[in-house]
Amino acid sequence: MITLSQIDKRFGSNKVLNKIDLTIKEGSVTALIGPSGSGKSTLLRCINLLEIPQAGNLRIGNEEISFSASGRPAKKDIRRICQQTGMVFQNFQLFPHLTVIENITEGLITVQRWTKSKAVKRAEELLHKVGMQHKRDAWPATLSGGQQQRVAIARALAPSPKVLLCDEPTSALDPELSLEVVAVLRQLANEGTTMLMATHDLRLAANIANNVVFLDGGEIIESGTSQGIFTQAKKARTQSFISTLT
Ligand code: ATP
Ligand code: MG
Repeated sequence: MITLSQIDKRFGSNKVLNKIDLTIKEGSVTALIGPSGSGKSTLLRCINLLEIPQAGNLRIGNEEISFSASGRPAKKDIRRICQQTGMVFQNFQLFPHLTVIENITEGLITVQRWTKSKAVKRAEELLHKVGMQHKRDAWPATLSGGQQQRVAIARALAPSPKVLLCDEPTSALDPELSLEVVAVLRQLANEGTTMLMATHDLRLAANIANNVVFLDGGEIIESGTSQGIFTQAKKARTQSFISTLT
């Protein structure tokens, strides 16, 4: 289980997240929707601690961390939390100078201190899962966007994080390539991977997510089951935003 309590994030005087309370159950998929600038990416980045909140508390499984305006948490505490998460970005962010398999083994070897043979075995298993084993030794630049994203998903999952955070995982892809990434994410969801994904893609949200959280102006306006939010949102702001999604 992942629990955010009263998380605040400011950039200078700009308050981007305001008292966010959010619980994510193990094995569930939560879609984070909301207008551009509402704070979706910042919320994901506050969970893997690419951004440090100024207030609140974050718990991932048995690991917990508290934030205050008076200082950053210790590096080792940030690392302890960050290691519980895997992140997939809109623009894939594979290492261009490493082959597909090296992209996955690199972190396992240098951060997790796995032996090379154990890391290669794990990487091969994940490449198989995302249907990319045939590109094991290819360079990222020779892959389609959908293929790069599938490798990025395999890389994020390699150390078995408690949660897979996805920031607009399909929005840089044309519809056909987007479908192959949606298929991989759906399969992961069926296998019980806990996921939180920011998305403008209604198909992704409606097809995969159990829960939907609507964020606007840095606040959670409404949350509930996908079915509930997409068909019977209670708040006018939610209804009006959902009507803009295609
Ligand atoms: P989009 O749908 O366009 O991706 P979003 O919901 O992901 O939007 P964020 O990227 O989280 O929104 O941005 C929320 C607010 O935080 C915006 O006003 C943005 O300008 C601001 N912001 C985000 N990152 C930073 C940063 N590193 N420094 C200063 N301001 C930032
Ligand atoms: Mg964003």
